[in-house]
Amino acid sequence: MSLTAIQDRIAKAQTQAGGPVGAVTLIAVSKLQPIVRLQQVLLQGHQVFGENYVQETAQKWPALRLEHCGAKVHMIGPLQSNKVKQAMGLFDVIQSVDRPSLATRIARLAQDLGQCPDIFLQVNTGVEAQKAGILPDETDAFVQTCRAMDLPVQGLMCIPPDGQDPSPHFVMLADMAARNGILGLSMGMSADFEAAIAAGATHVRVGSAIFGARPPKFDV
Ligand SMILES: *Cc1c(COP(=O)(O)O)cnc(C)c1O
Repeated sequence: MSLTAIQDRIAKAQTQAGGPVGAVTLIAVSKLQPIVRLQQVLLQGHQVFGENYVQETAQKWPALRLEHCGAKVHMIGPLQSNKVKQAMGLFDVIQSVDRPSLATRIARLAQDLGQCPDIFLQVNTGVEAQKAGILPDETDAFVQTCRAMDLPVQGLMCIPPDGQDPSPHFVMLADMAARNGILGLSMGMSADFEAAIAAGATHVRVGSAIFGARPPKFDV
């Protein structure tokens, strides 16, 4: 599906949800996609991208940013502590902050650098053992911990369990954000971004619906 078709569907979902069109940020998830596909989307004027792997981002984005200086890249994949320093030089937003040790490391480096990417906290709304994210019960305390470290907590992010109705997860995340005074809500992917917008998403992360099926992951 084309970028403009996705943008139209987002606008329609926003109108249906009663919100102003334009209030949802489309993050084009470009992990594992060939550079030519990214360039096509950049040349259409799209500026906001999502990536999952630090190494792949380091290979692709410094050169792309030279040509497209307004581009913003969001980290949406699990982040290992030993890659935080590199990640802070590559990403405008880190959406996958999911544990106090990671938050502490980002906060320390931010102090040293005098700058910090925007931060979203990832919540494991389905309490899945194999999935990253802070547990729902621990989220309010984690928000406080991050704020106490002066991290700029702009939003919450979730990836609902496969094969379940995602809407209750979107609603749960929206409730957590509201009670913590957090405005950003990153939720919804290719298969369910309209349901996420109905539940109040401010950011949707759409990959395969824009770029086509991803090639398999080798060693990135
Ligand atoms: C890959 C990925 C996406 C995009 O998934 P699609 O189904 O291709 O839209 C969104 N969010 C996260 C966290 C991802 O890892």
